Amino acid sequence: MEPFDLAVVGGGAAGFMTAITAAENGVKRIIILEGTSKLMEKIRISGGGRCNVTNATWIPTELVENYPRGGIQLLESFNRFASGDVFDWFEKKGLKLKIEEDLRVFPVSNSSSDVIDCLRKSALSKNVEILTKCYVKEILKTPDNIFKIFSLKEETVITKNIILSTGGHPSGYKLAQNLGHSIVKPVPSLFTFSTKEPNLDECSGVSIKGIDIEIKLNNKIFQNRGDLLITHWGFSGPAVLKLSSIAARELFSHKYKFNLIIKWSVLSYEELKEKINFLRLNKGKMNLINNRPVSLLTKRLWIFLLNKIGIDKEKKWADLMAYERDKMINTLMRDKYLISGKGPFGEEFVTSGGVKINEVNFKTMESLICPGLFFAGEVLDVDGITGGFNFQHCWTSGWIAGMAVSKLNHKVTNQ
Ligand SMILES: Cc1cc2nc3c(=O)[nH]c(=O)nc-3n(C[C@H](O)[C@H](O)[C@H](O)COP(=O)(O)OP(=O)(O)OC[C@H]3O[C@@H](n4cnc5c(N)ncnc54)[C@H](O)[C@@H]3O)c2cc1C
Repeated sequence: MEPFDLAVVGGGAAGFMTAITAAENGVKRIIILEGTSKLMEKIRISGGGRCNVTNATWIPTELVENYPRGGIQLLESFNRFASGDVFDWFEKKGLKLKIEEDLRVFPVSNSSSDVIDCLRKSALSKNVEILTKCYVKEILKTPDNIFKIFSLKEETVITKNIILSTGGHPSGYKLAQNLGHSIVKPVPSLFTFSTKEPNLDECSGVSIKGIDIEIKLNNKIFQNRGDLLITHWGFSGPAVLKLSSIAARELFSHKYKFNLIIKWSVLSYEELKEKINFLRLNKGKMNLINNRPVSLLTKRLWIFLLNKIGIDKEKKWADLMAYERDKMINTLMRDKYLISGKGPFGEEFVTSGGVKINEVNFKTMESLICPGLFFAGEVLDVDGITGGFNFQHCWTSGWIAGMAVSKLNHKVTNQ
């Protein structure tokens, strides 16, 4: 049997991008092997069913800042194929995209099915073969540099080049290891924080803009500023998701038990003290509950904080004792919550860890250990924060791998 030019293991975003790019650049015999019965399932469920395709951060040096792991290596990749290129790539294929206020990019239709249809049609129009329910369990490389792929389907697939685009699935790491690669232990990233803090659930649904949050672990400080959302189980929102990503490995090793520090006020310690003294002197007849020293705080949150500090909310500002004022300032500047675990939902569950990136040539996405083997997407030890950056990495790495396979193919056919 004639070997395939390229076999793609994993029919997700990265796998489809690789197959389409290779096919559109002259590679003839391509097959996608997908283990489940569904193609691109993560695209379907992503972005709440809308699929946050990428982020309108066009400049590669700014784009890389959104990857806690892999950013340095990605700069060169983004200089070749960044978010603007992805935008054009999809639009040229007839998928209309829109940029939302926070720079996230979605299909105009708000439907992830349209992204899937676009990719599926593009692959089929170039005669890419697609096999579903084809779970790959073993890959062997023969002495004449051909790969033999054994799956749960009876037939063995043979191919000159192979790409592992298996996402965060453990079988992909196993396949890579068997071909000589090392794996950085996979741990979750992009999750919310749970706390058993009494009465916090009374503030469920409260959202505050531009809050500084901090975690200190093993003398390392992780900080982030962003929007915070209080939920039934604890804390969520972009500030928390990003912090979970920055500190993903350390939080895993602490079994997700740590103190979260929240700075509720944008003022400095001295400025806040002055503001509170002003209230004591000038609004002395008003109740604490009716006059918040920090305008960002909602009334519900202010009442919760006063209860937490142990100050009567009906107290008049003039009656606030100096020690109570100090407690109030300390809480507003560095409010501490014991986090007891990850929350039940992440916005974009993603795996931090995977195939070691110094074992991969980022100019081609080819293995430095096993020629003919390529990688793209989440299977690599690269992960981004929430906002479309994880798909962006899939498109970029898939595109580079597809281009590299097509170059190899040209060389062979021209020989
Ligand atoms: C709920 C949710 C929402 C998300 N929302 C967003 C978002 O809006 N924007 C964003 O940028 N990112 C988002 N992400 C992250 C994004 O989905 C992933 O980064 C991306 O899907 C990774 O693509 P991939 O192609 O590398 O892997 P995957 O999409 O995981 O695809 C891998 C494929 O390989 C198959 N496979 C695995 N092992 C084998 C095997 N041995 N044999 C054959 N097939 C195999 C799997 O079945 C799967 O179909 C979200 C993730 C989740 C879970």
